[in-house]
Amino acid sequence: AAKSKGAGRTALFTAAMHAEAVRRFEIETDLRAAIEDEAFELHYQPIVTLADRAVVAFEALLRWRRADGRLEMPDAFIPAAEKNGLIVAIGTWVLREACRTAARWRAQLGGRHFHLSVNIAPQQFQQPNFTDQLCAILLETGADPRNICLELTESAAMVNPAHAAATVARLRQLGLRVSVDDFGTGYSALAHLQHMPVDTLKIDRSFITAQQAGNADWAIVGAMTQLAEALQLNVVVEGIESDYQLGELERMGCGYGQGWLFGRPMAEADAYRMIAASADGTRAEGAGPADGADQS
Ligand code: C2E
Ligand code: MG
Ligand code: MG
Ligand code: MG
Repeated sequence: AAKSKGAGRTALFTAAMHAEAVRRFEIETDLRAAIEDEAFELHYQPIVTLADRAVVAFEALLRWRRADGRLEMPDAFIPAAEKNGLIVAIGTWVLREACRTAARWRAQLGGRHFHLSVNIAPQQFQQPNFTDQLCAILLETGADPRNICLELTESAAMVNPAHAAATVARLRQLGLRVSVDDFGTGYSALAHLQHMPVDTLKIDRSFITAQQAGNADWAIVGAMTQLAEALQLNVVVEGIESDYQLGELERMGCGYGQGWLFGRPMAEADAYRMIAASADGTRAEGAGPADGADQS
């Protein structure tokens, strides 16, 4: 009986593994087709000054338009793309598309400054030809490097800190901005931060979910803000949804914010209208326009 039970378990386990392998194979096949068909879209979420809600930047966020019209969010396919290596090709598409947008906005905004932030996967950042490829895309699209900000995670920098620091220094020399995304969620950020010539820390939204004063999370956000100040870095706080959060963050002297309170990720045309209006003195209010998937 024990033996047959064990065999049954093995069969179940194997079936589960098989299903997982099939699922992975399917998503890989679909992702390859999506790269081929350019079935990806970038949506843009505003980044504002907390003091007066002026829209100064946007973060480009990737979505995958399925054949049936559904929008797939990054958490549903980026982990798989990181496992099968397709993230490098997808990331190249993202960079090119964001640079095209930046070049168009720059031409239309008549010299007014803005930043467009692009998420860079660790694997993409570690490609030996990453900087050369980026330069080629800047040339090809006509984007000004001063309009582009690259968002790196701590783990991208941790594999080979010396190499990462040298790459970041080169990017800065080219005029790009570099920020540390999801700051505070990775390992040993502090030790390496002083050697990493980034210019912005993006504080992860998991630190601002506390809804009451006195919570330890607010002390952590305060400490991170002071650290950024000491290192002369900008701070962008992610995931601001409420006036209460905004009030706490303003009190701490955080410079910039991003979140549903100021605007959801939106189509390029809506984002452009928002930044163009902000140039005329309009401020970001409420969640603003958004597509179906970003509404939820
Ligand atoms: P992230 O870079 O930290 O981006 C911020 C995420 O927080 C976005 O989720 C955004 O929609 C969401 N968010 C913004 N404000 C709020 C808010 O007030 N409340 C809540 N609950 N969420 C908010 P999204 O678009 O689903 O992206 C998730 C992650 O996927 C990103 O996190 C980033 O790590 C990754 N990602 C997105 N686009 C790309 C890309 O082009 N390349 C790579 N490698 N990763 C990407
Ligand atoms: Mg990001
Ligand atoms: Mg982030
Ligand atoms: Mg985050």
